[in-house]
Amino acid sequence: MQLRQSNIDRLADGAVYDTLIIGGGINGAVCAAALAGRGVKVGLVEQGDFAGMTSMWSSNLIWGGIKYMESRDFKLVRELCVSRNHLIKHYPSTVQEIRFLTTITKGFRWNPLMLWAGTWIYWLFGNCFTRVPRLPSLGTINREEPVINTKSATGCFEYSDAFLHDNDARFVWNFVRTAMNSGCVAANYVEATGFERQGKLWHVGLRDVMSGREWTVKAKTLVNACGPLADRTNALAHKKTEHSHVLSKGIHLIVDRITPNKRVLAFFDEDGRLFFAIPMGTRTCIGTTDTRTEDPHAAITDDDVKFVLDNINARLSLDKPLDRDDIIATRCGVRPLAVQNTSGGDRDFLQLSRKHEIDSDIDQGFISIFGGKLTDCINVGEEIVDLVKTMGIDIRFPDYRWYGEPVDAVRDEFFHQARLMKLDDYTDASASEPLSTRLWRRYAAHAIGILEYIREDPRQAEILIEGTEYIRAEVRQAARREMITKLEDFLRRRSKISLVSRQETIRQSAGLMEACELLFGEDARMRFDEYFRDHPVTNGIARDPGAGPLPADGATNDPATEHEKASKDQKEGDFETLNW
Ligand SMILES: Cc1cc2nc3c(=O)[nH]c(=O)nc-3n(C[C@H](O)[C@H](O)[C@H](O)COP(=O)(O)OP(=O)(O)OC[C@H]3O[C@@H](n4cnc5c(N)ncnc54)[C@H](O)[C@@H]3O)c2cc1C
Repeated sequence: MQLRQSNIDRLADGAVYDTLIIGGGINGAVCAAALAGRGVKVGLVEQGDFAGMTSMWSSNLIWGGIKYMESRDFKLVRELCVSRNHLIKHYPSTVQEIRFLTTITKGFRWNPLMLWAGTWIYWLFGNCFTRVPRLPSLGTINREEPVINTKSATGCFEYSDAFLHDNDARFVWNFVRTAMNSGCVAANYVEATGFERQGKLWHVGLRDVMSGREWTVKAKTLVNACGPLADRTNALAHKKTEHSHVLSKGIHLIVDRITPNKRVLAFFDEDGRLFFAIPMGTRTCIGTTDTRTEDPHAAITDDDVKFVLDNINARLSLDKPLDRDDIIATRCGVRPLAVQNTSGGDRDFLQLSRKHEIDSDIDQGFISIFGGKLTDCINVGEEIVDLVKTMGIDIRFPDYRWYGEPVDAVRDEFFHQARLMKLDDYTDASASEPLSTRLWRRYAAHAIGILEYIREDPRQAEILIEGTEYIRAEVRQAARREMITKLEDFLRRRSKISLVSRQETIRQSAGLMEACELLFGEDARMRFDEYFRDHPVTNGIARDPGAGPLPADGATNDPATEHEKASKDQKEGDFETLNW
């Protein structure tokens, strides 16, 4: 908490920033890391927690978008494949290659052999960087993945993409932390409330959402990285832009692991869109849906849940079909999709690309980011540095590489120290990987600090919250370095505890109050109560923050269900090509 308060004080001390970034999702976070690393004086404000909107609701895939080959968006696929490779190379412990086993059902619009040929083209687009595609027989699938129902299948193919081993929000947080290491002044729960250009400076009204304090900060240039709320921010700043957003809702359900194998099971749903069962430690994350919405805070509906359950049950052969009682947690978010304002209406929709768009007003030092994907994040950071330079800001360290895991020497030192102190002997029997591997992936060079805590007091290596892998020393370090302001920040975004553990298990954990004491000191009880008050359990399932309550079984929001509407949109506007 001290880190946040001192950053807020610095944001309010009257200094002029070269660049102020509004929005701490993936786009804001990479801009902050890129600019700060290259020597620009940067501020970053996020009205909720970092990665508190779309960037915590993705499918956690770092992928070339094989799906977009069907819409012949080959340039995009090629670019995304290259971006994927770049992330795998620079984040070997976080962004990992994973196999996608795709099952084709009888009567599907494409012949399996055509799709098989497509995977080879996809592989070539990716410079043959990943393992080669495979064409297993149905018999092989029955042996390797008996959970797949092959009765109605005509074929399968397997190819590689990548996924985030931890989760999207943690990935974003690490960019925010990297930015702060390079001098960026960042604060969560600080909202930008108004914008005015006076002479050569932007005057931006800020409000500390936690205390209500308001002040103005001055900056030479502004970056609007507000994701689904970017249009609202541009309206506040009286900025007319070439692009704006349309929104598409997607949900995921988290259930117990459906297969012990670490591979993504891919299927086509009843509307012909790709959907996945993605490994998440001891759980599986199933999704997603694709429903056009006007609401940036769209909530999960009973139809969404039913649609995902019906589709996955139809494609798996489980002893007992998955039902609502099997859902451990839900995710629901909206994709901001960039459209050109001039082309208007449904035509925009047909022409949508997954590519991000960046609009700028060079004279006024104003930049807006539209659309995009986690996969493309490094390019966004680089493009913003170039634009800010064009606006006259001095880039003092143009060659500095602002992304990637630490150099091998640091990694070797950590693992050497970990081996010497027999760190992995502390690994809990239920853990999915050795403790040293997990600590390195989550904290990189700062994992060495965790070793020091454990040397001082071996109790620091004990799991603090039962049923999770998080040890006491991690929580202690998080309290100092991770700007955790509410309990949800820790349970859902710095860690993925609330995604993989049921709410009741978390509440009953004897260690949770101790974690709160470490994180919030004398506010521990207040933050504990706030969390359970703000996250009511409906039908046994805790709702994802911002996703709205899960409606009662059987309830629908609208007589024409959202999925009926989605199918209609699809017919009208080729919406199927919008899958992530
Ligand atoms: C269901 C789903 C699945 C997806 N799957 C994938 C995938 O597998 N792979 C992939 O690469 N991409 C995927 N995506 C896309 C990816 O998640 C998004 O493109 C990306 O997260 C958008 O990031 P962003 O920073 O633009 O927006 P956001 O993450 O929404 O960040 C914008 C931030 O701005 C803040 N903000 C807004 N207004 C203000 C203000 N006035 N003051 C301060 N802060 C403000 C918001 O609170 C928010 O946190 C998926 C998206 C969805 C919804």
